Amino acid sequence: MKASNRQNKPAKIFVISGPSGSGKTTLLTSLIQDKQIGKLLVKSCSITTRPKRSKEREGKEYFFVAPKEFRRLLKAKKILEWTRYLGYYYGTPKEPLEKQLQGRKNVGLCLDLKGARILKKIYPQNTVTIFVLPPSLSALKERIQKRCRHTNPQEVAQRLLLARRELKAAGKFDYCILNQNLPVAFKELKSIFLQESST
Ligand code: 5GP
Repeated sequence: MKASNRQNKPAKIFVISGPSGSGKTTLLTSLIQDKQIGKLLVKSCSITTRPKRSKEREGKEYFFVAPKEFRRLLKAKKILEWTRYLGYYYGTPKEPLEKQLQGRKNVGLCLDLKGARILKKIYPQNTVTIFVLPPSLSALKERIQKRCRHTNPQEVAQRLLLARRELKAAGKFDYCILNQNLPVAFKELKSIFLQESST
């Protein structure tokens, strides 16, 4: 289907979930940077109270706020869905997502299991849920340790524990992608996007 025809379709929400270190954020970023897909998909930037990691940029990976500000936004109903993950808050800003859908722009989000469930409940017709599986638990451990090398070891252990639990939910998603090899996993994600955005 031509890009111009796709733009006339109702927009879809692509929620990518999977344990910390599964590669879901890399996959979504690659999809948005893809020449063919880039103009058809925007990333929703979440708000979090988690401290910024060294390579993260304000307004790119997240909007970083203090817990008090997060609670204010929640009370003002500016957050569509939210979760608490290892003591930090994460939430999807409501207005940008609604505007993008009205403008028939597909939206991609990386959310935890709760976020995926809630978006599917709010937008049952438009939401496509995708679970990214790591090749193995040992590969996952390695990735988490590498990414969180400036984070305290306790949080790394908690992330791994949570990852084991999250893996059990894979069957509840519309699609599962095994991320053993990034280019292969990306190809699969791209084909899911192209198929879903044309129906
Ligand atoms: P991280 O600290 O690794 O960036 O994110 C921790 C977890 O929170 C990941 O599973 C990530 O996908 C999830 N997450 C990030 N933003 C949101 C959000 O706005 N809502 C929900 N429900 N989960 C989020």
